[in-house]
Amino acid sequence: MLIFSSLGQFRSITEASHLNLIAIERKTVKIVVEFWHAFSRTVHRYRFVGLILVTGLLLGSINHFVLSEPTHLHTEPPHSPQARPTAAHPAKQPGQLVDIQQINPNIRLDIRYATKNNFVQQKLYQQPRCLLRPHVADRLSRVQQDLEKQGLRLKVFDCYRPLSVQKKLWKILPDPNYVADPSVGSRHNRGSAVDLSLVDREGDELEMPTEFDSFSPKAHLDYMGGSAGSRQNRDFLQQVMKKQGFLPLQTEWWHFDDPDWKSYPVLDIPLDAVQP
Ligand SMILES: [Zn+2]
Repeated sequence: MLIFSSLGQFRSITEASHLNLIAIERKTVKIVVEFWHAFSRTVHRYRFVGLILVTGLLLGSINHFVLSEPTHLHTEPPHSPQARPTAAHPAKQPGQLVDIQQINPNIRLDIRYATKNNFVQQKLYQQPRCLLRPHVADRLSRVQQDLEKQGLRLKVFDCYRPLSVQKKLWKILPDPNYVADPSVGSRHNRGSAVDLSLVDREGDELEMPTEFDSFSPKAHLDYMGGSAGSRQNRDFLQQVMKKQGFLPLQTEWWHFDDPDWKSYPVLDIPLDAVQP
């Protein structure tokens, strides 16, 4: 009896639990269904916002992974100032120099190394061209613009000089007083130096203390001999060049360096490799 009674009690307990479970299940299903309806309504209401967010994420990903440049291009260290020709990158070479005639055709040319009219009396350039780094050419063009207001022009004797020509010069005259040692390189080899003088409206050179490439104390900036007019012209040339940032050379009145010359490496690009 005890057993039966116990079983009856047990059954009634399990039936009650079962009914409870069904009630809980129904409640749970109801909650889930209500939640789903609420979720569906929300999704429907804000579907445009969702579409915009997904589109934004997609466009952002495309921009990041497909269109953006590698960041290392913007963090490349400046070129080493050491004498190192970059002939290993011929595809990049022509873009590193520009022809001054393309930047300002009012600047006159008298490229002496393209003739025998120079201190080694040999023709070393195949073409009479003045090639410079783009920023240096722009700076020189500003000097020309300043001079034009006074009826004057620049006349250029030498600009970029290939390192192989520097080696030839050194072979002819291995004296650091006259020629820069090619193992160090000249600032002309970097496309960041110019040799020049002034001419008037008729193209006649203004009187200077010496001729170009006349290596003597008379070519020094502190030379007080010669005519007053020649010293005035020399000092005026220094003044207009310095106004645009060029650096003078104490021993050569005709030579000027770009202030950033150290940031340009020595090159050995032939003069005819750059498009006119
Ligand atoms: Zn020079």
